[in-house]
Amino acid sequence: GDSAFENVPRAPDVPIYAVMVAYKEDTSPVKLNLGMGVYRSEEGKPHLPNVVRQAEQLLVNDLSTDKEYLPITGIVQFNKLSAKLIFGADSPAIKENRVITVQCVSGSGSLRIGADFLAKHYHQPTLYLSQPTYQNHLSVFTAAGLAMKTYRYYDPNTHGLDFQGMLEDLGAASFGSIVLLQVCGHNPTGVDPTPEQWEQIRQLMRLKGLFPFFDCAYQGFVTNLDADVLPVRLFIADGGECLVAQSYSKIMGLYGERVGTLSIVCKTSDVASSIESQLKLIIRPLYSNPPIHGASIVTAILKDREMYSQWAAELKVMTDRIASLRQQLYNALLDRGTPGDWSHITRQVGMYTLTGLNAEQVAFMTKEYHIYMSSDGRMNMAGLSSKTIPYLVDGIHAAVTLV
Ligand code: PLP
Repeated sequence: GDSAFENVPRAPDVPIYAVMVAYKEDTSPVKLNLGMGVYRSEEGKPHLPNVVRQAEQLLVNDLSTDKEYLPITGIVQFNKLSAKLIFGADSPAIKENRVITVQCVSGSGSLRIGADFLAKHYHQPTLYLSQPTYQNHLSVFTAAGLAMKTYRYYDPNTHGLDFQGMLEDLGAASFGSIVLLQVCGHNPTGVDPTPEQWEQIRQLMRLKGLFPFFDCAYQGFVTNLDADVLPVRLFIADGGECLVAQSYSKIMGLYGERVGTLSIVCKTSDVASSIESQLKLIIRPLYSNPPIHGASIVTAILKDREMYSQWAAELKVMTDRIASLRQQLYNALLDRGTPGDWSHITRQVGMYTLTGLNAEQVAFMTKEYHIYMSSDGRMNMAGLSSKTIPYLVDGIHAAVTLV
């Protein structure tokens, strides 16, 4: 008989996953994957920090643990340590119990719980996203029912920040609008405001009553764990309110464990406690309560001074390697005499470079060179190595001279 779902239309593939599948199916020995944002070793292999392996070993050997349900909002100590990591050890907001932090299903899940909360309890359901932004932002906030607008952010001519455009668009936003701000290592552009620019953004947003929703997926991936979250701490220091979604995917290599938090910083501890009760009502019918394992790994690392230091040191090795790859790629393009100004490769920061290569050039590189990346020209720098750079330069050179 006919299927009950006969008329279900086929949806298009999610672009970045389609790139991943195409890469997997490619049998060329020289294929190169610069698509999905994951950190790879110099050998091109997936990378798990040593400190994470050690933490997992500790968990396996700890016979006092069990696998019973967590509370709806997750592991209490994990939430405390996560808040400390992003807001700082002596954050007044934490001391005054004005922060509520709940364990969510990684950065994406945290964004979604925050979005659902805002859709239900905030008076102005308009959210501004940077132009461009992480692809999934659009889907997450649409699913939550928020109305979306964009603010200028990236200037394709300079490959840097369109700061004037950003200030104009935020200045013109209606009072109370929500503004999604990526904390550091902006995806997909690799362009972050300077500390002085952040301070100007903060002043404008507070003046206009714009509500900050921070997305923090790369703390420590640009400079270090403290410097990278300066914008969040600036906004907290003025006593105002904000939402913060935190992800441990990239910074601890825990992608598939789905570990993250949503924090809401409030004016009073009473408000914080009411908000927590409402977050439980949102989480419970979605997945009841979060998973244990990944958050236990993070807790083991954050609570132990030595493991924490080791993590920070391993993170620094990753960050330094990405910076070195930027320099190597830039030098190689210069040596090769590839047409164009490529200096943005070293000016941009974090995991991604928005190369300026267009969709046709990317398609050409994929077809002729088996080099895979997002069609918008975003390149995952952490998927490169000293060995693959010469080949990538061949591909880029051919693309910009022939296409
Ligand atoms: N936010 C940004 C800006 C990202 O780039 C990502 C992942 O690429 C995420 C959030 C969510 O990642 P996850 O759900 O794996 O924590």
